[in-house]
Amino acid sequence: MKALRLIDWKTDPELVEVPKPTPGPGQVIVKIGGAGACHSDLHVMHDFEPGVMPWKVPFTLGHENAGWVDSVGDGVRSVAEGDAVAVYGPWGCGKCSRCQQGFENYCENPAEAPVVSGGGGLGLDGGMAEYLLVPAERLLVRLPDGLDPATAAPLTDAGLTPYHAIRRSWSKMTPTSTVVVIGVGGLGHIAVQLVKATTSARVIAVDNRQDALQLATQVGADHVVTSDDEAAGAIKDLTGGHGADVLLDCVGAEATIELARTAARPLGDATIVGIAGGSVPLSFFSQPFEVSIQTTYWGSRPELVELLELAARGLVHVESSTYSLDHAAQAYRDLHDGTVHGRAVVVP
Ligand SMILES: [Zn+2]
Ligand SMILES: [Zn+2]
Repeated sequence: MKALRLIDWKTDPELVEVPKPTPGPGQVIVKIGGAGACHSDLHVMHDFEPGVMPWKVPFTLGHENAGWVDSVGDGVRSVAEGDAVAVYGPWGCGKCSRCQQGFENYCENPAEAPVVSGGGGLGLDGGMAEYLLVPAERLLVRLPDGLDPATAAPLTDAGLTPYHAIRRSWSKMTPTSTVVVIGVGGLGHIAVQLVKATTSARVIAVDNRQDALQLATQVGADHVVTSDDEAAGAIKDLTGGHGADVLLDCVGAEATIELARTAARPLGDATIVGIAGGSVPLSFFSQPFEVSIQTTYWGSRPELVELLELAARGLVHVESSTYSLDHAAQAYRDLHDGTVHGRAVVVP
């Protein structure tokens, strides 16, 4: 079968021929129906010297996957051939207390996980291929009726990551509060919809690209603000001078983190969701009083179940641009150039 693989660190991925995987005991082979191209893959490909990440190359990219069960190994009971499934992306040990809660993204026993701090597409073969080997049936979530794999795939990361961050701050998203989403790309345009679908807060979207702001309005943002030196002032103006109750920074660059914390209202949350890796100095006076500055990484399996339900009911819609597997490398080039509308999804 064909697979888009990272052959070596700091190189572009290559489409190569690899054997179709076969399932061992407890394992499941998924025929890929959609694999999302994530901005974090660009960091994985380009930013790390050999030895920095705890993973070995080569491996197939693609950590946002959904499809249909192709075959199952001995002992698999919860899914059967033909079932439409989403793949829960972070693969932990399945046994520690975090994994038992469904937070395999925060597995405390990574030495016993299939790969250290990763999953399919992150250290192990992922879904930018015709088939994906999933090491345990618990990592699959059956799709609710009405949701197809190509639509569900980006939800497993671009949806789940903001959903977890939003859920964490739900108590601060009241009818009188304002949520700011910074960066209206793959994650951000879903984040806007998730705030609207699950809370009564107003939403302000911030981006430096006009088409991204248009998309934000289209998916329900109440206001849009251009990301520049005036953005914090504009957010203050739109919130009666108070600042925003919750800010989700889907970029994570120095300028966006600075915006998130300075435009916050006292007692607010500023959550760094994007992994651009920016940093700002922290002190008692560097943000309004009692603002919680926090990071989140991905989300839990139970949250993925909830999110798929929201999507099946039509409460969240993923804007996507579709690429064939033959053009998967182009999806990453477009992502790098910032020209993808919504999420790039590879459909083999
Ligand atoms: Zn990702
Ligand atoms: Zn674990």
